[in-house]
Amino acid sequence: MKVLLVDDTKTERLIISSYLERMGYSVVMAENGKLAVGLYHTEKPDLVLMDVIMPEMDGHEAARQMRRDESLWVPIIFLSGRVDPEDVFAGIEAGGDDYLTKPVDFRILEAKMISMRRIANMRRKLIDVSTELEVVNSELKKLANVDGLTGLANRRYMDKYLRVEIARSMRNGHQLAVILCDVDHFKKYNDSFGHLKGDDCLKAVANALQSVCKRASDLVARYGGEEFAVVLPDTNIENAHRLAQAMCDAVSALKFDHPESEHKLVTISMGVYSDQPEKSHDSEFMLKMADEALYRAKDSGRNKVCLY
Ligand code: GH3
Ligand code: MG
Ligand code: MG
Repeated sequence: MKVLLVDDTKTERLIISSYLERMGYSVVMAENGKLAVGLYHTEKPDLVLMDVIMPEMDGHEAARQMRRDESLWVPIIFLSGRVDPEDVFAGIEAGGDDYLTKPVDFRILEAKMISMRRIANMRRKLIDVSTELEVVNSELKKLANVDGLTGLANRRYMDKYLRVEIARSMRNGHQLAVILCDVDHFKKYNDSFGHLKGDDCLKAVANALQSVCKRASDLVARYGGEEFAVVLPDTNIENAHRLAQAMCDAVSALKFDHPESEHKLVTISMGVYSDQPEKSHDSEFMLKMADEALYRAKDSGRNKVCLY
């Protein structure tokens, strides 16, 4: 443990430092407050032991300057010949944590050092724990929005996103598109290859859908089971149709065999809806329109895109 010892009297410095060294502390010394503030930042001591009255800069001002950096906190103990209660008060108010009067009883000093070190350690642990908590919290926040299997946004996040984008489109008068996708005959795929292969297939489909969406504002989400939803801000029906067709092609290009399907490959069906939302067009409404189009895609042979 490193102690910054600040005193303008050389003999005091020598006596106290030799005592500190005997206690097992390493000592850095300064002869006034100004030098002490510099060493406080370069040497990063674990504790400061400081006289009050010194030339250049007194102990109170030095303590105030040390306390300016809130990220760096170490105990400051004043060591002063002044015994007036007002002096003690001023020292604590300036940022000191304890105040000892000279001549100091070294056993008392040793005890104070131990108690200050204990407080410093507890503070450090608290900071570590709160940093860890922050990391865990932001991980949790991310997880709450992400689908575990595919890594896409989950339905919860998509619902929120769609609501925000509807409000934005109502303000700026732009078109907003929603696409619903459903994997064709996926129950039979699971029945043929097992659930694990089914999961692999869903992951590949998710990647294929995502790979088609290039804009940062496009959102691909897992809507549930083998269904996906895509939210495309600033996108009219023609462009949404084009993207949906590209997604459909990207999935069949995966060439996942599916003997039970009429297309002999894993394919998806898609329903597309785009408009400039009005008050009555909430997210439920938009998804319902896309779902009606999806139903027609299913009904008319699958592996295709239908527009509402
Ligand atoms: P359709 O072409 O009409 O959509 O037929 P389908 O068989 O895909 O539709 P259905 O809704 O009858 O079945 C969906 C299947 O998707 C059933 C379910 O077991 C499967 N499924 C849903 N979620 C998962 C999943 O996370 N992993 C796997 N492996 N299968 C899933
Ligand atoms: Mg389905
Ligand atoms: Mg399906």
